[in-house]
Amino acid sequence: MGKKWIKIISVILLLCIAVFVLSGCGKKEEENTNFKIVTSFYPMYIMLLNITTGAQNIELSNMTDVNIGCLHDYTLHTEDLKKIDEADVFIMNGLGLEDFIQKVLETNQELQVIDSSEEITDFITEEDSTNPHIWTSSQNYITQVRTIANKLGSINPENKELYANNAEDYIASINSIKKEYATKLETLRGKKAVCLNESFSYLGKELGMDFITVETNHEESTLSAEMLSSIIEQMKAENITYIILDKDDDMKNAQTLQRETGATIYALDSGLTGSLNKNSYLNSLQGNYRILLGEE
Ligand SMILES: [Zn+2]
Repeated sequence: MGKKWIKIISVILLLCIAVFVLSGCGKKEEENTNFKIVTSFYPMYIMLLNITTGAQNIELSNMTDVNIGCLHDYTLHTEDLKKIDEADVFIMNGLGLEDFIQKVLETNQELQVIDSSEEITDFITEEDSTNPHIWTSSQNYITQVRTIANKLGSINPENKELYANNAEDYIASINSIKKEYATKLETLRGKKAVCLNESFSYLGKELGMDFITVETNHEESTLSAEMLSSIIEQMKAENITYIILDKDDDMKNAQTLQRETGATIYALDSGLTGSLNKNSYLNSLQGNYRILLGEE
């Protein structure tokens, strides 16, 4: 009897230890399970760096390599899919830039998706399709930031208040730059410009400039000789002195236009590439204003 009892007590003790160890391990794993936020590409990542500053128990990562440029015609890699699969929430620009997400959702119905364009109403339609580069308008950008902060707060309530406060701080910084340049920017209203990168259509509209946007899909070098000579003709006829493109674009065609018309090239920043500094959108916004005003 005595031995039997010792055996039973030993087994119970072992079981207790096993349960203790296992639950301990389980608990440890749970503590490491951060809320995983994955953004689709650089502009969204910079937004989230600002919105999530100081947030607890989260992990922020970007699906694509940082400086791939625009998601136009982007082909999804296996690693990208893996990143999305591990995400708790996927944050995208929307308006067709992340069309692949429909396929992902067919197999991963648990994935939460935030479409930052959901509350945008000020669209630009070019050649029957909506121009998705909404973020170059600061007002649209502000709407995107608010939409993301609100939705993220309901999916990850632990940081709800922080997201809302961060978003408002970030928006205040954007508004302070806009306010600083508001008077000077009025001088650009109505100015005609040839724009060789459709990312800037929203910036031009916001500034009240009159853009002749040449559809290039970020590939300025695809302009034909006929196209170039017709632009040159129009520039001469209408006395257009602004040529706008992105700092990363091929300058060749812009230089031809400049040579033929004497217009000035303004190489702006569409916010598609840059450093991982959380102020990079603020810097590019201010930089673009300064370049257009001839201060840089
Ligand atoms: Zn694009």
